[in-house]
Amino acid sequence: MQACLRCKSAEQVRPKAILIGAASPAKRFNGEEKAGYQRLDQLAVDECKPERLKAPPLEQLVEGFYCDLCGHGFVACEWLKAEGNRRSR
Ligand SMILES: [Zn+2]
Repeated sequence: MQACLRCKSAEQVRPKAILIGAASPAKRFNGEEKAGYQRLDQLAVDECKPERLKAPPLEQLVEGFYCDLCGHGFVACEWLKAEGNRRSR
């Protein structure tokens, strides 16, 4: 089982289909960081490996995980494009 990205524990983690964003802020704003834009820790379709995604219109629904302890949904790190993984924190 995948460990939670926040609490680093897999104890409360279960598989769950999660909904991800249609576009990351980087894509939405042309790579520009917009001041005041709160990134809600949400992954977006363009940050995932295309071969892992379902065909449209279900591309935002991915087989991820959910941590009951943190109330946080996430996908396994192998889903992420290395280049798209430039988070500020
Ligand atoms: Zn957690």
